Amino acid sequence: MDIQRISVLGAGTMGHGIAQVAAQAGYRTTLYDIEATLTQAGLDRITANLDKGVARGKVTEDQRLNTLGNLSATTDLEDAAQAELVIEAIPERLDLKREVFGTLDAHAPDDCILASNTSSLSIAEIAAATRRPAQILGMHFFNPVHIMALLEIVVHEGTADATLAAARDVAEKMNKTSIVVRDVPGFATSRLGIVLGLEAMRMVEQGVASAEDIDTAMELGYRHPMGPLKLTDLVGLDVRLGIAEYLHEQLGSDAFEPPTLLRKMVEDGKLGKKSGRGFYDWSED
Ligand code: NAD
Repeated sequence: MDIQRISVLGAGTMGHGIAQVAAQAGYRTTLYDIEATLTQAGLDRITANLDKGVARGKVTEDQRLNTLGNLSATTDLEDAAQAELVIEAIPERLDLKREVFGTLDAHAPDDCILASNTSSLSIAEIAAATRRPAQILGMHFFNPVHIMALLEIVVHEGTADATLAAARDVAEKMNKTSIVVRDVPGFATSRLGIVLGLEAMRMVEQGVASAEDIDTAMELGYRHPMGPLKLTDLVGLDVRLGIAEYLHEQLGSDAFEPPTLLRKMVEDGKLGKKSGRGFYDWSED
């Protein structure tokens, strides 16, 4: 399958980054969001990332110009459906994603592949909202997308081999290493990552060690580039709580039960970096 055009739905934390790596890989890329101010904010973030890349010598001026030249924006979902691959990165709500996939299915070309960047929702349930389940799969990127090397590809029972092959090819062009995971709750990454994060919170709750020392334990003792609590601050405590609740319900294991501390911090508006306060103080950043 010859993919030339990629549309990315949602210009938020993940969507702008996915659009950047798609455009950087040479695809004609359309960034969609529900309001023009949001797509513009996404494009501005991409420009800022590229400017930083040029300043650091990681991106050439030519690459910067070509990437920006490959990008366009729309607030019309039917317009965004005109591509060979659509990657959805809208909020983590199954009802919302199913609605959007239904609309895409009705308007996208017959051979278009529809992918979701969901961190934990069922790809099969998203696929069931369309009449093209064989062309549906998960393409789970990591934040910040232009830096993180992994793409977790999630296949449900009905995903066609050709769909998987096309996604792997796109991953390679985007300079990502892809892994293939079966469509189970939390896939491979969220399932393992959340357990570590929740256990670290329980340890803070029980006074085992400070957040800083728990993070240092994993950074220096296990060579994790970033400790689980700092990572939680970057992802957002509300986002992690939502995933933990979902996995707790789906997998039924106590390992996924959200700690009281996490619920309390979310209630108090301590959502991590984006709110200025989480396990760390980000107010100066
Ligand atoms: P975000 O809130 O930063 O961005 C979501 C964007 O989608 C918003 O700009 C919103 O306006 C837009 N949007 C487009 N269509 C919409 C619609 N119909 N209704 C409501 N909003 C709509 O979210 P995010 O952090 O980029 O997450 C997006 C997806 O990526 C989620 O499924 C999330 O689980 C997944 N994900 C997030 C991360 C992360 O670290 N944040 C990592 C991997 C995967």
